[in-house]
Amino acid sequence: MRITIAGAGAMGSRFGLMLHKGGNEVTLVDGWLEHVTAIKEHGLQANFNGEEITAHLSVELQSNISSEEKTDLIILFTKAMQLDKMLQDIKPLIAEHTKVLCLLNGIGHEDIIEKYVSKNNIFIGNTMWTAGLEGPGKAKLFGNGSVELQNFIPGEEETAKKLANILSASGLNANYSDNIHYSIYRKACVNGTMNGLCTILDTNMAGLGATKPAHDMVVTIVKEFAAVAKHEEVNLDIDEVVEHVETCFDPETIGLHYPSMYQDLINNNRLTEIDYINGAVSRKGKKYQIATPYCDFLTQLVHSKEELLKAK
Ligand code: NAD
Repeated sequence: MRITIAGAGAMGSRFGLMLHKGGNEVTLVDGWLEHVTAIKEHGLQANFNGEEITAHLSVELQSNISSEEKTDLIILFTKAMQLDKMLQDIKPLIAEHTKVLCLLNGIGHEDIIEKYVSKNNIFIGNTMWTAGLEGPGKAKLFGNGSVELQNFIPGEEETAKKLANILSASGLNANYSDNIHYSIYRKACVNGTMNGLCTILDTNMAGLGATKPAHDMVVTIVKEFAAVAKHEEVNLDIDEVVEHVETCFDPETIGLHYPSMYQDLINNNRLTEIDYINGAVSRKGKKYQIATPYCDFLTQLVHSKEELLKAK
C-alpha cells in the first residue's frame, strides 16, 4: 500500500518507520528542510526501543510535491497549526480513492481537512503512542501504544476497520472505535490540563499535582470541555475523565515527565498547539454561548508566554 506520512516529525517518523518495516511503500513529507535533507542523505535514524536502526525511506519536502505521485493513504501528523498549509501542499497527492487519517492531538481538525478531502475519505482518531526527535533525521522511539480510529461520516465503517488492520499489521495496535469523538475529547482533556498548566507553572506533571489548587483547576477545565462537548452530542463522564487526567500526576509512572507543550515552548522555543486544545474550547464556547473562562485565560497566558519567549 502506498502510504504518505504528512508531517514527519516525531510521531510521523514513528508511524512511517513502523509501516515501512511492515512492508508498506511509505513516503515521508515534511516542511523542515534540514530534517528532510538528513533523511535523504543518511536515512531515518532511530533509537527504536534501545536498538539503533536506519531506515531508507522515501522523503519529500512538502513544497516540492508533484502531481504524479497519487497515494492510497495519507496519515496526518503535523502540529495542528501546520495542518492547513500541509494539506494545501499535498493536494496533488490526493486522488478520488485516497483515504486521509488524522491522528493529531486537539479538537476540530475535521473543519480544516474537509476543505481538501471528501468527507467519505476522512478518518479521525487518536493515539497513545509517543515519540521524540533528537535532531534532524533522528528519532527516539520507546514504549508501546495504540490507535483508535473511526470514519468521519456513516457508511465507511468497513474501510475504517480495514485501515485499523493495516496499521495493526505493522504493530501499531489499532482498533476501530464506534465513539471516536468521546476518545478525542477525553484525550483533549489530558492535554487541556497538563500541557498549559505545566507550561505556565514551569513544572512537570507530578509537581502540578502536588499543588493544592491542582484538583480544582483540573475539574473546572474538564467541566468546560464537557459543556462544549455536550453540544456536539458527546457526553463526557466528568468524574471518570478527571480521574483519568489525574493519573498523570503519579511520579511512579509518567508524573516526572514534562508535557509536550512544555518541551515545545520552554525547551525548544516553538509555538504551541494551544489554539486547538483550550483555544478550541473557547471558540466553541462562544459559538454555543457557554462560558469557558479557564480555557480562555489559559489560552491567553500561553500566547503571552509564546510572545515573551519569541517562539517560532
Ligand atoms: P513534531 O513537532 O515532532 O513534528 C511536527 C512538525 O514539526 C514536523 O513537520 C516536524 O518536522 C516539525 N519540526 C519538529 N521539530 C522542528 C524543529 N526543531 N524545527 C523545525 N521544524 C520542526 O510533532 P509530533 O510530536 O510528531 O506531533 C504531531 C502531532 O501528534 C501533534 O498534534 C501532537 O500533539 C500529536 N501527538 C504527539 C505525541 C508525541 O509523543 N510526540 C503523542 C501523541 C500525539
